[in-house]
Amino acid sequence: MQYNAWFRCINPKCIATYPLNRILYRCESCGSLLEVQHDMDALARRDAKAWMKLFEDRYKSTQWPYGSGVWGKKEWILPRISNDNIVSLYEGGTNLFWAERFGKIVGLENLWIKLCGNSHSGSFKDLGMTVLVSQVKQMISEGAPIQAVVCASTGDTSAALAVYCAAAGIPSIVLLPKGKISIAQLVQPIANGSLVLSLDTDFDGCMHVVQEITKDETLYLANSMNSLRIEGQKTVGVEIVQQFEWQTPDVIIIPGGNLGNVSALGSGLLMMRDLGMIARLPRIVVAQAQRANPLYRSYLKNFATFEAMQAEKTLASAIQIGNPVSVEKAIRTLKQFDGVVMDATEQELADAAALGDTTGMFNCPHTGVALAALIKLLKAGKIDKSEHVVVVSTAHGLKFADFKVDYHEEKLEFPSRYANKPIEVRASVDAVKDALHNALKNRRTTNA
Ligand SMILES: *Cc1c(COP(=O)(O)O)cnc(C)c1O
Ligand SMILES: [Zn+2]
Repeated sequence: MQYNAWFRCINPKCIATYPLNRILYRCESCGSLLEVQHDMDALARRDAKAWMKLFEDRYKSTQWPYGSGVWGKKEWILPRISNDNIVSLYEGGTNLFWAERFGKIVGLENLWIKLCGNSHSGSFKDLGMTVLVSQVKQMISEGAPIQAVVCASTGDTSAALAVYCAAAGIPSIVLLPKGKISIAQLVQPIANGSLVLSLDTDFDGCMHVVQEITKDETLYLANSMNSLRIEGQKTVGVEIVQQFEWQTPDVIIIPGGNLGNVSALGSGLLMMRDLGMIARLPRIVVAQAQRANPLYRSYLKNFATFEAMQAEKTLASAIQIGNPVSVEKAIRTLKQFDGVVMDATEQELADAAALGDTTGMFNCPHTGVALAALIKLLKAGKIDKSEHVVVVSTAHGLKFADFKVDYHEEKLEFPSRYANKPIEVRASVDAVKDALHNALKNRRTTNA
């Protein structure tokens, strides 16, 4: 069966389409972003049950490349790519667990966490990068002039780009905002051999520069305004539903910065609905840091207007973005999914992340933003305690060890509600016994 896909301009007044092997990030006629459109009639010739069976048979198998959570759905992603050009590190297939204790504490019975950070480079960015780098390899094999792939990053995009390019043997270049990403995130592209440029600006400043330098076709742009990444990231929604045996949850909460990922989540779910695999759509909640909350401000005005802002420094550094490139796509998604936007202060996000950790999670600050949004929406009655809720955890907590250390050492600008400081004790049995006695007594009184 012949499946096909192409780029389409997202502007409803413009009907421009382009082949997927064009080096192009915006519409040539109107300047809007592009999206990948699939031949849905061809996909619909296979019925919903058969798609489910195919996806289940491939899921986490060693039948390369179909064991990957992304390439197991290849017909929905890049149907025409040659398997020889696929650069996969077995992304996707991440665990989805019942957050029983956290749910009980916040008053929700049916809360699940989708751990997208338990992946090769430690964030969900792997899902999109496997697709982008594979398509680059395909284009190079067809004679495209690409010499390197380049991105601006708040840390996780660059880590994913660097590792996939290293696996493919394709040079990569990353532009990072100096001093604004964690040590772990900085060392990832360095270790994977990227050319790392540290710019004295913020993410929005790096994004501006990268859009200018990639006007040269030898440097291929890997930011999420490149809709190839969205194709891989959209598998997260499909995978969540698949993991629930094709039942749709009521609410999915996702942290948002540049807003590519929420559009991707929506896109996968819409494809499932259009192919008859699910009957209803979940509500989608985007969670933003209050210091970088342009979408939340627009939501408060019913999306009547959108204004970019100067993002302020936030612990949720991967979403410290004031001028999100995918805002139009995100607003469209929120309108289709009865969407809600909520924001969280620094203290709210840090305490929510830490509270989650005490119940057996190990959260990055962005997941903290999502958990804080959940708590606030439950209090406001916008999520009901009977609902089936999934929180998308976007990165691995170990990438943000510095954030956790500062929190527990109470070095942040607000009191840490759940600080757990190590106690320094002399190396003697009596001293340890005394320390234990006091510490356990304190715990009993604080827990009472
Ligand atoms: C990139 C990223 C986000 C935000 O995704 P967008 O597509 O930019 O909205 C959230 N959390 C983490 C950990 C990320 O790396
Ligand atoms: Zn257009």
